Parts: sequence; structure tokens; C-alpha cells
Amino acid sequence: MPIQKVAVIGCGLMGSGIAQVCAQKGIPTIVREINDEALKKGLDRIRNFLAEGVKRGKVPQAQMDQTLANLSGTTSLAELKDCDLIIEAVVENLDEKRKVFAELDRVCKASTIFASNTSSISITAQAAATKRMDRFIGLHFMNPVPIMKLVEIVRPEVTSNETYAAAKTFAESLGKVTVTAKDTPGFIVNLLLVPYICEAVRALEGGLATKEDIDTAMELGCNMPMGPLKLLDFVGLDTTLYIMDTLFSEFRDPKYAAPPLLRRMVTAGFNGKKVGRGFYEYTK
Ligand code: NAD
Repeated sequence: MPIQKVAVIGCGLMGSGIAQVCAQKGIPTIVREINDEALKKGLDRIRNFLAEGVKRGKVPQAQMDQTLANLSGTTSLAELKDCDLIIEAVVENLDEKRKVFAELDRVCKASTIFASNTSSISITAQAAATKRMDRFIGLHFMNPVPIMKLVEIVRPEVTSNETYAAAKTFAESLGKVTVTAKDTPGFIVNLLLVPYICEAVRALEGGLATKEDIDTAMELGCNMPMGPLKLLDFVGLDTTLYIMDTLFSEFRDPKYAAPPLLRRMVTAGFNGKKVGRGFYEYTK
């Protein structure tokens, strides 16, 4: 099952990175967004990331040009019908994801493999919105995708051996290292990461220390590349809140319960670096 053409659904933080690495490896890649404005923003994000790489001498100009030549965009799902692999990276919400996959199932050829980049939502619950549960899998890339080495493969019982092998070969062909997890909430990475982030917000909320001191403590005390509140800004507060709500609704364990401060910040629209304001402020 060679993967010769890829589509990425959603060109936000993750979708843009996934599309970029696919196109950079020479694979014709098409991204789908909800409207022209979001599509332009997503494609601009890729262009800017590559241009920054060229400026720093990390990406040759010819590679940037070739990558952009391999990329195209659309707002229509019907245009994705002949893709071999579709990677979904829309908001972390089961209903939204099921809606997207049900529509894709109707338009895509029978052999197309569907993958979700979800951080925490059941792959089986998404696959059940389609008639191709055996050709459905989780491919959880890390942020920022062009830099982070890991892809967590989430393999529910319903996934066929052929689909698993094709997804693993594909992720490795992008230069990624894979780990395989069962379809349980949060898989490996977020099962372990989310309680830590939750505790950091609770510490700030409870007045334990300033945000800067909480971050510095973990950066210099534990050699974390980024403190937990900075990491939250980087991942997106809205996305993290969705993940916490998923984990809490599945496990009913208070360690996954979203701190009220986080919920208030998301309500206010302080979703982190991508909007210029989260725990810290950013000039975009
Ligand atoms: P984001 O908010 O940056 O981007 C989501 C994008 O999806 C938006 O541009 C939105 O317009 C688009 N979208 C929404 N509905 C759509 C549809 N029906 N068709 C096409 N596009 C649609 O979010 P993100 O951080 O990129 O997260 C996307 C997914 O990746 C989530 O499932 C998230 O849990 C997962 N993820 C996020 C991170 C992270 O660090 N942010 C890491 C790993 C996985």
C-alpha cells in the first residue's frame, strides 16, 4: 500500500506542520481548511516556517521551493477523493472529527487510509463514524512537527495489520521515530503529560509562585526544555482544555480535572502563543 498522495485536514498549528513534513519529503500533499481565510493563514504559516529556515541556513532555498510546489490547498473535501492517506488535524472534539470522517468516507476511494492526529480522543470512536474501521489509525505527531522526532501510533483492535504496517512505514519515511500505543485516553504522551500541566496551573492558581518561577523551576531544576506554563501557551490552552476534558470524562479521576483558571482563560480567548496571549504575551 504505497502512500503516494496525502491530504491533511485542518491547517492550524499541527496540520500545517504535518503538511510541511510530507511535502518536504517529496509527497504531493493537499491541505483542507474550512474557508479561504483559514487556508491562506495555514499556507502562510508553512511558508513562514520554511522562510525562517532558509534565513537561518537550515533549509536550502531549492528545498523550500520544491516543498511549496508539492503543496496545494482546498476548502472542498471532494477534492481529496484519490488520496492514499488522509491525516485529520481539526479541533480536539469528537463530534467535529466524526463529522469530517463520515463525509470523507463517502467521497474517498475504498483503499484510502484515515488517520487522526488526536491528542486524546478514542480512535475507535472516530473510526466508528466510517465504514472502513480496518483502515483507520491514530498518527499522533508532536508540536512543532518539523522538529519533533516522535510519532505516536495509536492502534485500536479494529485496525488491520496492513493499515498498521503502512502507517508505520509512512511515519518512518518522514524521518520520525514511532512508538505504538493502545487506544486508551491520552495514549502514552498525554496520559503522562497532562496531569503535570494540570498541577502547574493549580500551583499558579493557588499562589504557590509566579508563572516565571514555576517555569524556571522546571527548566533549570528538572532540565525541561520549556516550563509547563510556557508549554501550555505553545500547545494551545483551548486544545489542552479539550484534552483534559476528554481524559476527565473517560477516567473520572480528579487529577485530569481542568483547573478553573485554565477554563476562564480559554473563555476569554487567551489560547496561547497562536493568538498572541496565554499565560505570557507574544508579538506575532
Ligand atoms: P488549531 O486550533 O491550531 O488548528 C485546528 C484547525 O482546524 C483550524 O485551523 C481550523 O480552522 C481547522 N478546522 C476545523 N474544522 C475543520 C474542518 N472540518 N475541516 C478542515 N479544517 C478544519 O489546533 P491544533 O493545535 O493544530 O490541533 C489539531 C489537532 O491536533 C487536535 O486534535 C489536537 O489535539 C492535536 N494535537 C495538537 C498538538 C499541539 O501541540 N497543539 C499536538 C499534538 C496533537
